[in-house]
Amino acid sequence: MVPLAQSAGALLCRGGPALVKRCASPTCHTFFYDTSKNHNGRWRSKACGNPLRVAAHFRRKRASH
Ligand SMILES: [Zn+2]
Repeated sequence: MVPLAQSAGALLCRGGPALVKRCASPTCHTFFYDTSKNHNGRWRSKACGNPLRVAAHFRRKRASH
């Protein structure tokens, strides 16, 4: 039990608060732990990015007309 707790604590310390981000989705804004390689994650999950992409797609479509 003790080694498990220690490793969990070490993980939290190594990550630091800088890797805790707020989801970029306007309908979500959930705080999440950025585990991406370059720490450039913007959404809590991939599904969170889809609404934004869909909205951008419709904006482009409307602007072309
Ligand atoms: Zn989200």
